[in-house]
Amino acid sequence: MKIFDSSKKRVCDFKPLKEKRVTIYACGPTVYDDAHLGHARSSIVFDLLRRVLMALGYEVTFMKNFTDIDDKIIKKMRQSGKSLEEITSHYIRRYLEDMDALGVLRADIEPKATESLEAMIDMIESLLKKGCAYKIDGDIYFDTSKDGRYCSLSQRCDEESLSRIEPNPKKRNPADFALWKGCKDEKDVCFDSPFGPGRPGWHIECSAMIKKHLAYPDTPCQIDIHGGGADLFFPHHENEAAQTRCACGQELACYWMHNGFVTISGEKMSKSLGNSFFVKDALKVYDGEILRFYLLSTHYRQNLNFNEEDLLSSKKRLDKIYRLKKRLYGVKPSQVQKEFKEALLEALGNDLNISKALSVVDEFVKEANERLDKNPKEKEFKKEAMANIEYLGSLLGIGQKDAYEYFQMGIDDETKKRIEALINERKEAKKSKDFNKADAIREELRQMGIAIMDTPQGTVWEKI
Ligand SMILES: [Zn+2]
Repeated sequence: MKIFDSSKKRVCDFKPLKEKRVTIYACGPTVYDDAHLGHARSSIVFDLLRRVLMALGYEVTFMKNFTDIDDKIIKKMRQSGKSLEEITSHYIRRYLEDMDALGVLRADIEPKATESLEAMIDMIESLLKKGCAYKIDGDIYFDTSKDGRYCSLSQRCDEESLSRIEPNPKKRNPADFALWKGCKDEKDVCFDSPFGPGRPGWHIECSAMIKKHLAYPDTPCQIDIHGGGADLFFPHHENEAAQTRCACGQELACYWMHNGFVTISGEKMSKSLGNSFFVKDALKVYDGEILRFYLLSTHYRQNLNFNEEDLLSSKKRLDKIYRLKKRLYGVKPSQVQKEFKEALLEALGNDLNISKALSVVDEFVKEANERLDKNPKEKEFKKEAMANIEYLGSLLGIGQKDAYEYFQMGIDDETKKRIEALINERKEAKKSKDFNKADAIREELRQMGIAIMDTPQGTVWEKI
């Protein structure tokens, strides 16, 4: 496997800390609002990475956190009058529902920040002891000047980047950041700690949770791959790396991977710009699998400009896979073709080269159709072709639906019931040899935009 390490800025050969085992951490959402397309893309990218490593034979442990304590959550509590628990449990559930719809596998470990406070407090204490942190009025800051390698990760500590960090005259250095925020008033959300009531800063969460839940005992602060959106590179990941270096004397991750932005109509999608595009809204219009396939089709390091035209052409590509699956309806899969599997893994093993992988899929679909045109009864080949499609399900998370159901998408439940009723009526008419009525029903369905096919598995239907 080759991986582009964003810290080294080059493609590297992947060698895990332990042979055949891989630990991956991806920064999860702050749960104060619904997931947007940026979350969806990042989730899908690291879901693909995880699936590819599993397909290559690694035993993968994947962790993604939920930031369930944060200024934005507290603001929402004040606005809504709801408790922290009510808000965060709602948005955690919503996030998981959206990601399920996009075919993202659940993480092996999904820790919440509020359940890992002890690990954060321990790390802050060790930073204080080592002189890498300082207290000011109940707050605790990380002293970036104490980390000789600060900025070595992102190399983005230029004045412009630093100017985006909230200025605070109390800090020793402009890049210093809060490890612990002391309780400000009785309305604040506070937890007890040896340094007084307060709550953790955002960055300490990831370092502490990695140490607590994911790292191996012999490298207690380090994992194989740390991932996230490119917007997290600085300051978030830089700060995570600095804390871990100072607290443990280890690099947090052996490889860093960052996915590109999702833009809409050329403008960077960001909450602050107020043009966020919620996954739930996209899911009202498009099926989750189509969205997944679309978000997956652009190489993860490139920015993706979300637009209808590309989405529709992506759908057409997926349609072709399902059309082939429909031709193979009822066929039991045998073994996936070796060359197909190898070509896919070679492409994806090269820093997730999705364009190459999808061209392998396109080629397979084209050739399979040609072969079936020539010889529709090739039994063994049909079984292999079905196995290939099934393999796409485990590797890319696509093509797993029933082929007929796929082409029924966008039809509401009431219409579906009506269609099923008409199909039953036709069946009865055929049974009693009333072929005129059976034909009339077929025509009625055609008028509704529905085509029916009689197969050995019964009558099936799809949108024309
Ligand atoms: Zn993080």
